[in-house]
Amino acid sequence: MTVKEFFKKTLFIEIIKGLALTLSRLFSHAVTRQYPKEKREPFPGSRGLHALVRDAETGKEKCVGCGLCAAMCPSQCIYIYTTEGEENKKIVDRYEIEVLRCVYCAFCVEACPFAALVLTEHYEYSDYSRDAFYYTKEQLLENWDKYMAGSKGKEYFERFWGPKSKDIAEVSPPRGGNS
Ligand code: SF4
Ligand code: SF4
Repeated sequence: MTVKEFFKKTLFIEIIKGLALTLSRLFSHAVTRQYPKEKREPFPGSRGLHALVRDAETGKEKCVGCGLCAAMCPSQCIYIYTTEGEENKKIVDRYEIEVLRCVYCAFCVEACPFAALVLTEHYEYSDYSRDAFYYTKEQLLENWDKYMAGSKGKEYFERFWGPKSKDIAEVSPPRGGNS
């Protein structure tokens, strides 16, 4: 043991340093936010509630029911029900997400070849019932209107899913809902 180490151990230097740090923090400004009274804007690109992209031209979902998102989902919480329409095109009768089981990995967004699905920044959707977390196609489209209105949807793809932004040529107009 060196002389320096001897003094360090006998004079409890490390403990004194720790206590000094604690004391210096005692009178500094608290960083705790009093949620929900105090809120901050969510970080851009943070992964919140899901939304189905609404096509600006047709006003309907961009989803074509290929099922890739459901196949990629590690939680297996995406359910898609399709029927066959004209020219063998699939019609998405039902598209549902059991949000409580989601782990927000965004694999579904990544897997979608049509930029038809997003994770919005909205994170305040607690409820007392499990049923409230079973989102239908209509609700998911409403989420797009509410949380990705205006240019937000296009910006989302441009900033976070670059190659897909080409598929969002036009900005979907907000329909109903609050933004
Ligand atoms: S974010 Fe991940 S877990 Fe959630 S629905 Fe998409 S693929 Fe599934
Ligand atoms: S991958 Fe995209 S287009 Fe295919 S079913 Fe999922 S959301 Fe729809």
